[in-house]
Amino acid sequence: MTADYHLHSSFSGDSQTNPEDAVRAGIERGLSLLCFTDHFDPDYPYPEVFMELDVPAYVSEIRKLQALYQEQIEIRLGAELGIQPHLGEFLRSWAGDCASGGYPFDFLIGSTHLVDRLDPYYPDYWEARTARDAVSRYLEATLENIRAFDGFDVYGHLDYVIRYAPRTEDRAFSYAAHAEQMDAILRLLIEKGKGIEINTGGWKAGLAETNPCRDVLRRYRELGGEIITMGSDAHTPEYIGYRFADAKEVLKACGFRYFTVFRERRPAFMRL
Ligand SMILES: [Zn+2]
Ligand SMILES: [Zn+2]
Repeated sequence: MTADYHLHSSFSGDSQTNPEDAVRAGIERGLSLLCFTDHFDPDYPYPEVFMELDVPAYVSEIRKLQALYQEQIEIRLGAELGIQPHLGEFLRSWAGDCASGGYPFDFLIGSTHLVDRLDPYYPDYWEARTARDAVSRYLEATLENIRAFDGFDVYGHLDYVIRYAPRTEDRAFSYAAHAEQMDAILRLLIEKGKGIEINTGGWKAGLAETNPCRDVLRRYRELGGEIITMGSDAHTPEYIGYRFADAKEVLKACGFRYFTVFRERRPAFMRL
């Protein structure tokens, strides 16, 4: 079975995809399961991009699609939370309010989209420092984020920072160059019972590898990590389930025998 656990629709400020078109694309691609993970990045410093999430409207749309397509595909309700170190308390109460207020999520991704109030998607993050420091600071911020807030199920695209590096030669993650920091992140996630994802958006962006890359996936497995979801990070329907057959092979080669799906925040393990 194939399940896409990272995709965006027009409930995300950076996607125009009609959620129903996403569902139809998932069915066409033969997915058994699809989990919407629209963005919620509170206190996002770029005013031109809207990163709030209208939870009641979102949930009601997903519920409608779940009913409409229940014979063809299972649809689950998730969100991708942009964490910043000062948002721990805010995100805890947001997640608590959602769960108790009739909006229970199946799945939450925690992601680092901002480092020191800058999104590495934009070149200004890179202009102020060397590429090595840019990556290193991103990993440091990720560790700070996980310490501030751990109310997610998996951490998103661990080496995302290199995806939009202005220089092509910087668009590859070197585990060896950042092993100590990456290990600290992986160990902390494992200790907290949290997972990671294999995000094929790296391939979509023209990288040679997924996010994170093989070395990091292998290391997570070596350290005892077992929880891993598969996600396309699609913002348009044509990328839903993008290269999942290849991604499964990557996971197998990295020592995994199962991938993970979530329902009501509880993991289930599916054979690869
Ligand atoms: Zn993301
Ligand atoms: Zn995403």
